[in-house]
Amino acid sequence: MQSENSVPDIKSSITVDLEDGINILMKDQFNILMPPTERAVINTDILLDLFEKHETKVTFFILGEIAHAFPELIKKIDSFGHEIGAHGYRHDQLFKLTPEEVATDISKSKRVLENIIGKPVLGYRAPAFSIIPENAWALEIIAEAGFKYDSSIVPIKMKRYGWKEFEKQIIRLQLPNNFTLIEVPIPVVSIMGHSFPVCGGGYLRYFPLNFTNWAFSSIVKDRSVIVYLHPYELDTIRYPDFFYSARKTLNIGKSLPLMIYRFKKGTVKEKLNSMLLKYKFIPLIDIIRTLETENAIGSIRLGNSKTA
Ligand SMILES: [Zn+2]
Repeated sequence: MQSENSVPDIKSSITVDLEDGINILMKDQFNILMPPTERAVINTDILLDLFEKHETKVTFFILGEIAHAFPELIKKIDSFGHEIGAHGYRHDQLFKLTPEEVATDISKSKRVLENIIGKPVLGYRAPAFSIIPENAWALEIIAEAGFKYDSSIVPIKMKRYGWKEFEKQIIRLQLPNNFTLIEVPIPVVSIMGHSFPVCGGGYLRYFPLNFTNWAFSSIVKDRSVIVYLHPYELDTIRYPDFFYSARKTLNIGKSLPLMIYRFKKGTVKEKLNSMLLKYKFIPLIDIIRTLETENAIGSIRLGNSKTA
């Protein structure tokens, strides 16, 4: 039985999807293409300092265009002992791409990272958790590209993503192309009959720390928590003027989410600090290797159908 303040036996993982908030916003919201900005480096440095302070190693899923623009940052993350995973090259949601485009994007992102750090990249996370039943074929492409594991599936149905019927535990997938791939689904918590991926993103920003702690302790009884966040979630500096000029062109329905999106970013660093004090985190690949050693990963065959 676990007491309120004890450190759980099951270790968890912090995963950072390393991308630049501004250039992705401009691309997705306004169709304006621009290179990633230095803010990705500045905010990642804040995270690196925090992880160093707590002597904690995490997993960074890094966008290829960030690696291309800031190779020294990738070398630094690697030299600090964090795991380097891939987050695709251009941050397009996979269900908007053809299988050929997915294969090109994924392989390119793996290659650019491996060329910088000189070692294999084993983990992948799709932009915006964009693997859903309709594009389950993407898992085969990820395995064929040489990845050992994927962490792109949220096992609930959300507005823009989610695969409701998917396993809740870390699982080995036997794929139709005869490759295998370990899937690390994002943990969810059930609240009043609905499930939510509460240990990351907006949930981490908007909800109080007590809520995050409650969610964390209810997940970790059963499996590893996978915290997910982005460096831009710590970004409290005013965005460049061009962002506000572009936002003015939107109607209220579209501009309101962009206003809320910046809300409470100042609280994320302190929440992370508290979690780092309270829980033990290791890179995702180490969680997988421990489970493999213990022979504790189940296996399912994934068919060609829409659901597993
Ligand atoms: Zn992303």
